[in-house]
Amino acid sequence: MSRRKKVYEGKAKILYEGPEAGTLIQYFKDDATAFNNKKHATITGKGVLNNRISEYIMMQLSAIGVPTHFIKRLNMREQLIRAAEIIPVEVVVRNVAAGSISTRLGIEEGTPLPRSIIEFYYKDDALGDPLVSEDHLTAFGWTNPHEIDDMMAMALRTNDFLAGLFAGIGIRLVDFKIEFGRIYEGDLMRIVLADEISPDSCRLWDMQTNEKLDKDRFRRDMGGVSEAYQEVARRLGIAPDLESRLHQESNAAK
Ligand code: UDP
Repeated sequence: MSRRKKVYEGKAKILYEGPEAGTLIQYFKDDATAFNNKKHATITGKGVLNNRISEYIMMQLSAIGVPTHFIKRLNMREQLIRAAEIIPVEVVVRNVAAGSISTRLGIEEGTPLPRSIIEFYYKDDALGDPLVSEDHLTAFGWTNPHEIDDMMAMALRTNDFLAGLFAGIGIRLVDFKIEFGRIYEGDLMRIVLADEISPDSCRLWDMQTNEKLDKDRFRRDMGGVSEAYQEVARRLGIAPDLESRLHQESNAAK
């Protein structure tokens, strides 16, 4: 594994060269960061859980016709993906006010929004991923109107699907962030959902208790991060072998 060529290392994931041209291996780390890298921690088992949860969600989305970069999960921490040219835009969909929209617009956390709202953030760590408008996206050439239409349509389909999926297991989908990439096939180019969809990139609240089952537990020092992610996996029905495997992995590390 160490001889594999590292293509990119981010905060929570590493990308390695894949076995064939046009593929990459996406490795999920246990590292967590927040507040533009000012806060760091290692959360044991997070990478394993996010690998599994993101696999499940990407496969479900693909089954309803939302194209994704996901090919297959390889092992506990790695998945094979199609190499995509990442569009430098974070697309956030919100159903309920929380986090930055609550602060920016003075809306109390937990207030349902009049309708689902899409926001764009320019992916730039040095700038702290600023909120931008569609006009910024096109004027600076980060993307174009056609791609924006595609991204918005896919973001809304993803929202409808995920909101239903989570409602079915007693979880409110408050908001989430997704990223898109371009894949070139001969003369054709298409946009696919990339990166990951996991409790790191979503706000998920228990419908009965409003308990947070997402990365806000880390951002707000609430503890029980890994337990909350495990609960999401358990409710999705993808946890049966995970708990024992997490246990094996942590024993092996000792
Ligand atoms: N989000 C993310 N990565 C980021 C910023 C936001 O995955 O770099 C997710 C976040 O987990 C939440 C949604 O996008 O589900 C909206 O985040 P918000 O703008 O409220 O920012 P935050 O409060 O996380 O700073």
